[in-house]
Amino acid sequence: MHNARLWTVAGDVIECQLCNHYCRIREGRKGLCQVRKNVEGQLVSLNYGKLIAAHVDPIEKKPLFHFLPGSKSYSIAATGCNLRCSWCQNWDISQFSNHNDPDRLAYTSPEQVVKAALRSGCESISYTYTEPTIFYEFARDVSVLARQAGLKNMWVSNGYMSGQMLDEYLPLMDAINVDVKAFDENVHHKFTGAHLQPILDNCRRLKKVGVWLEVTTLLIPGINDTREQIEGLADFIVNELGVDTPWHISRYYPQPQFQEIQATPPETILKALKIGEDAGLNFVYAGNLGRYVDTYCPVCREMLVARSSIWMSENKIIGGVCPKCGTKIAGVWETKSG
Ligand code: SF4
Repeated sequence: MHNARLWTVAGDVIECQLCNHYCRIREGRKGLCQVRKNVEGQLVSLNYGKLIAAHVDPIEKKPLFHFLPGSKSYSIAATGCNLRCSWCQNWDISQFSNHNDPDRLAYTSPEQVVKAALRSGCESISYTYTEPTIFYEFARDVSVLARQAGLKNMWVSNGYMSGQMLDEYLPLMDAINVDVKAFDENVHHKFTGAHLQPILDNCRRLKKVGVWLEVTTLLIPGINDTREQIEGLADFIVNELGVDTPWHISRYYPQPQFQEIQATPPETILKALKIGEDAGLNFVYAGNLGRYVDTYCPVCREMLVARSSIWMSENKIIGGVCPKCGTKIAGVWETKSG
């Protein structure tokens, strides 16, 4: 157990202020995420340092296509999540804490994470696989050390963190991929348990303060693949986040715990890509499709970054610009290895 940050006492309960659920937690009870508990009037984190995953990944796997391309990212996760998406691709670890005590996992210190990242030649640490918000205290401690060691901090998130968390953490955050799971409040709330608006507000804020932001949407037939939702999200990105914000539209595959919906037809992804491009987005990519993953100059259409699935094979961008027409290409392109 580790002292939690961002909570207050409200009468005879604790209000957790880490995410937009703002759970009110009675003595001896846990919050929705199952990893924060009221213990004798103090809120504690149950998953601090209890990593359920630690891997070296290509940064493209996050996905982040315009941030340190071709670099390796040391990727960690603790158990738990503040959302309950039935189709979750990491269900076994995101919902692990519903049935298991994170305490049975081995402890890893923040220092060990940073050392492992440096030893493996990574240029960043990714807080990913589950929702980093719910292992915030650990992510924050790692992030401080990572910065001191010259590593970047990037999150793969559902975007449901509280404003208070962003107030505290934004100075440490370099990049984020926010998974906007549906562009309809009723659909979003029904299938995830979370409201849409705070996520959109957080995206705006992240963009405004200069954190590198990419957006992902996993298209699931019959849930979030209506033309209205796809067009609505495309327009939101164009108008609120900017045409240079990369949008990853991913193909869903049935998961062991969620078999009732078949895989997204490729033509649905192709239609969504077209909607994104027609809305004016410069960088729309497909995920889990095996194509439409290369980056082209939005002005002269020169192919700039070639990828094979999650691996970068060629990067022609020099000094952040297209070598053919000189257009500045949005992103963070300079890696330590060049
Ligand atoms: S992090 Fe979110 S889900 Fe977890 S206890 Fe706090 S408010 Fe509730």
